[in-house]
Amino acid sequence: MKRIYLDNAATTPLSEEVIDAMVSVMKNQYGNPSSTYSLGQEAKALVEENRRKVADYLHVTPAEIIFTSCGTESNNMIIKSCVDNLGVERIITSPLEHKCVAESCLEMKKKRGVELVYLRPDQKGDLDLNKLEELLQSSDKKTLVTLMHANNEVGNLYDIEKIAQLCKEYHALFHSDTVQTVAHLPLDFSKTPVDFASCSAHKFHGPKGIGFAFIRKSTGLKPLIVGGSQERSLRAGTENVTGIVGLGKALDLALENMDAYAQHMEDLKAYAIEQLTEKIPGIKFNGHSAEKGESLYTLLSLLLPFKNPLISLQLDMKGILVSQGSACSSGAAKPSMVMMSILSDDEMEQCTPLRVSFSHFTQKEDIDALVTALVEIKA
Ligand code: PLP
Repeated sequence: MKRIYLDNAATTPLSEEVIDAMVSVMKNQYGNPSSTYSLGQEAKALVEENRRKVADYLHVTPAEIIFTSCGTESNNMIIKSCVDNLGVERIITSPLEHKCVAESCLEMKKKRGVELVYLRPDQKGDLDLNKLEELLQSSDKKTLVTLMHANNEVGNLYDIEKIAQLCKEYHALFHSDTVQTVAHLPLDFSKTPVDFASCSAHKFHGPKGIGFAFIRKSTGLKPLIVGGSQERSLRAGTENVTGIVGLGKALDLALENMDAYAQHMEDLKAYAIEQLTEKIPGIKFNGHSAEKGESLYTLLSLLLPFKNPLISLQLDMKGILVSQGSACSSGAAKPSMVMMSILSDDEMEQCTPLRVSFSHFTQKEDIDALVTALVEIKA
């Protein structure tokens, strides 16, 4: 049975060019970047070349990019070090964050006594930035704001430019989980005064096990992992040269094709919305998911007008791979914090959220197959 992959917000297939670039490194550039002889220095040059690529994309300096193993590690490091090393006593966040942010914050509350304040979203998943300003005004405690750029379940985009400006005005630190937007949207941190951000290569056709943290130069974070002077002593451990080259190649391809890929996925998304609305009466789309420009073009969050907790399993049996509106970390079918915080009790009782996410490999026929399968399952 042919498999139709519609879960690109969880992870993406590797591009052929990325595989080729990585195989070449594995075969030829096996040196340790810390070795002073030529083979090591060649590997080091690859690491630095790709660091520069990332820095250019974000309009920052290479010294502000620290390669890590993934988005989860980057977010953990940033949040925990803000508390342990930068004197943060209060964190403002929202229930929409990925588990790795949410649990890092909770751990800082439990272990370090940090005050944790939640900005509650409305039913569209919007955050009230006036409320954020009130919160920033209301305390003298050193504060970290951690709010994501785009939600990985609903797809809503958040105005990190405005949030960053507010944080700057009230002298709070600002971390944004940019895992779902890096390489999908242009980002310019020379204009957006975000202090910290995170990335994961496997969200844009790069390999798993590599990501980076953006750490603004003046902030003074300390490492989560110690025992070596790699990554300017901010992340010990021999560099994942193969992964870094894969990340760089995936970023190259994403940037070269950004407009074409975005257009392709926007068209697919519009087609999916049209087909689903026509064939499944009563269907809704969560948050701003169906609104162009207000949400990720890679993701459509459905609210099916019937209850079926086994739907992703049934779709899997038909060869269609999607996520059941819950976070990409566990594959669990239970409702997520994000869905619980934006859906009404009635919607939670009577409906089924489903996340469909696209890549430039996705075709119209894949959408047709999804719609047909959903109609069959509903019947
Ligand atoms: N943050 C967001 C918004 C995500 O979607 C993910 C995906 O799983 C992560 C963080 C974690 O990234 P990683 O899989 O690289 O640990």
